[in-house]
Amino acid sequence: MPELPEVEVTRLSFADRIRDARILAARPGLPLRWPLGCAPEQLEDRTVQDVRRRGKYLLLHLDQGVLLLHLGMSGSLSFDAAPAAPGRHDHFDLVTTHGTLRLHDPRRFGAVVWSASLQLDPARKLLASLGMEPLGERFDPAAFHAGLRGRRAPIKQVLLAGDVVVGVGNIYASEALFQAGIRPTVRADRLSRARADRLHAAVRQVLARAVERGGSTLRDFSSATGESGHFQLEAAVYGRAGQPCLQCATPVRLIRQGQRSTYFCPRCQRA
Ligand SMILES: [Zn+2]
Repeated sequence: MPELPEVEVTRLSFADRIRDARILAARPGLPLRWPLGCAPEQLEDRTVQDVRRRGKYLLLHLDQGVLLLHLGMSGSLSFDAAPAAPGRHDHFDLVTTHGTLRLHDPRRFGAVVWSASLQLDPARKLLASLGMEPLGERFDPAAFHAGLRGRRAPIKQVLLAGDVVVGVGNIYASEALFQAGIRPTVRADRLSRARADRLHAAVRQVLARAVERGGSTLRDFSSATGESGHFQLEAAVYGRAGQPCLQCATPVRLIRQGQRSTYFCPRCQRA
């Protein structure tokens, strides 16, 4: 599943090139998770002013309205000046004067949704429950610690829930907790300010590093992919059950939390 760093790398891969492009045609394929919300012809002659991101949504700001793109479980975007004919799993083409933005999505949990503004539905509804942006300025240690107040669930699950901070997926939650030396099962509201500060810093570092590495992995930005393999190469605990911890050589443990796999070092993450 494309995680926040992949989505951000995807954004970086085409944002500059599509800026100021005029839309020539919008060509939906098979139905995606949600309907487009306007007639495809309505997008013609609109100009793409900017590409931003909120959580795992890419926001194409047009001169009239916003196009929200979500990669779902298996989506990826490409931006190509001369694309081939759409394949079986290509379900949306946005043809512009600068190239074609194409959504490839075998499982079709992705979405392309038009909204008149971010303050109005459907955008308002889709973005309403998102927590702070982990790489944004509002996500500071005090706000993070305050967000954990009253949350009795294990810290790993509170991170995954996304309503305190968005985009900390399963891999990144395990890695950040390891880096901060915090046991994934500890109750979120039991974290002291000092430990919350460490976790805050770890979350930012883990995600920023993944964006950096993803960006350098995409040799040329003509096509972005959501392949998560690029982002897992340096995992310290994730996917390493039974293997020695890189810091203390204790075997990494695997447990289940809310149907998800959690990896941690029982020695480095004692409490
Ligand atoms: Zn260890």
